[in-house]
Amino acid sequence: MTVIKELKQQKEAPKQGMLENVMKQFNTASDLVNLNPNIKKILGITNNELIIHFPVRMDNGDVEIFKGYRVQHNNALGPYKGGLRYHPTIDIDAVKALAMWMTWKTSLTGLPYGGAKGGIQMDPKKYSKSELERITRRFTFALGDNIGPEHDIPAPDVNTNAQTMAWIADTYMSTKAPAERSKNQHVVTGKPIGSGGLEGRDRATGYGVFLNIKFWAAQKNVPLKDKKFIVQGFGNVGFWAAHFLEKEGAKMVAVQDAFGTISNPEGIKVEDLFEYTKFNKGSIVGFANTTAVNKEDFFGLACDICIPAALGNQITKENQSEIKAFLIAEGANGPTTVDAEKLLLERGVTIIPDILCNSGGVIGSYFEWLQNRNGELWELDEIMARLDKKMKEVFNRVLKMCETRKLDMRSAAYVLAIERIETAYVQRGIFP
Ligand code: NAD
Repeated sequence: MTVIKELKQQKEAPKQGMLENVMKQFNTASDLVNLNPNIKKILGITNNELIIHFPVRMDNGDVEIFKGYRVQHNNALGPYKGGLRYHPTIDIDAVKALAMWMTWKTSLTGLPYGGAKGGIQMDPKKYSKSELERITRRFTFALGDNIGPEHDIPAPDVNTNAQTMAWIADTYMSTKAPAERSKNQHVVTGKPIGSGGLEGRDRATGYGVFLNIKFWAAQKNVPLKDKKFIVQGFGNVGFWAAHFLEKEGAKMVAVQDAFGTISNPEGIKVEDLFEYTKFNKGSIVGFANTTAVNKEDFFGLACDICIPAALGNQITKENQSEIKAFLIAEGANGPTTVDAEKLLLERGVTIIPDILCNSGGVIGSYFEWLQNRNGELWELDEIMARLDKKMKEVFNRVLKMCETRKLDMRSAAYVLAIERIETAYVQRGIFP
């Protein structure tokens, strides 16, 4: 007999408080730009929130019901854009927060996009590859035309990757009339190269994190050679950021992932650790010449640069005082709470904020979208050069705003992001 398991993940999800965090950041920034109160009302709320329950047949024949989300925060500047996350802590508030951050990020970077986010509340580690494929395809089918290449364009995020995007593109395209299918390839970005993906999209976010660290260090005359860094999250963002920093002569001295924490003050070779994880079920635990460290001691480890590249709300009022780094480069979205940030800034720690620091990913996605839309093929050198140029331009604009208005980097980035959206609303007015 078929057994239907109902939403067992739902009970496990702890509240992350990211929505509270992004709203506080938005309110502070609105005051700084003296935001028109009517536009503040619009930006303070999401345009659309979709919660979908959908059934999927498991390998053993049972049917499980999943809960998926897509939140479209704002599209004043262009189609909605933002990743899909598969994680037990995903709930409506977390997705709303992540969607808002996407709006600020696409606006700050000058892209013709709005902000969205989505995901499925589940632990993907519990499912086989064929189950994950069916979950992804059924979710895509259920989303229907709530996503679309000129309407809302998902991308990878935590626990989703190029393979996930290929399944989404294929499912979405399969629902279209034959003559329309190939026109819909850019419904997602972050696809594999063989399926319309962009050379270098895999490293774009981590490379962008590295570039921001490099630009900041150059401006402060801080050599990166021999600087020690720690990375939380050794996935797409954490790995690539570490890879490029190591190439610059910096030393990775500790890493934390979902399985555990390892350290070696003499340095951990990034590529060797990456190879090790491939044969260790994706985990860093047990890597040669490293010591296991308690989870809660990670942020207190001796280092110069700290790269949170996992989940939100990791650096809090409670643990911020342990941080030794002089620079925090936010690879993750929302890793630092507002309360923690205030205290860190007071003691002179610089924070390169998420909407700037990890924006290489959405810029890379924009390049992929353009490539598909225009039927072009871009080469890796050209793509990396364009990414470099774009990131430098955005970094310099933020820096200039910091200097002109005597602001920290997050406030400066928010001012630029919100002013651009406000201009669009002021010019167009509110229908009718
Ligand atoms: P990923 O799934 O590739 O990797 C996530 C990593 O975080 C894994 O190593 C995992 O083990 C680790 N992790 C998960 N839970 C953890 C925990 N509780 N403590 C410590 N480590 C934990 O995801 P990703 O794509 O690298 O995304 C990481 C962060 O970067 C997310 O906040 C995401 O929103 C943000 N981001 C990603 C992109 C992108 O292009 N992928 C772009 C911008 C921002």
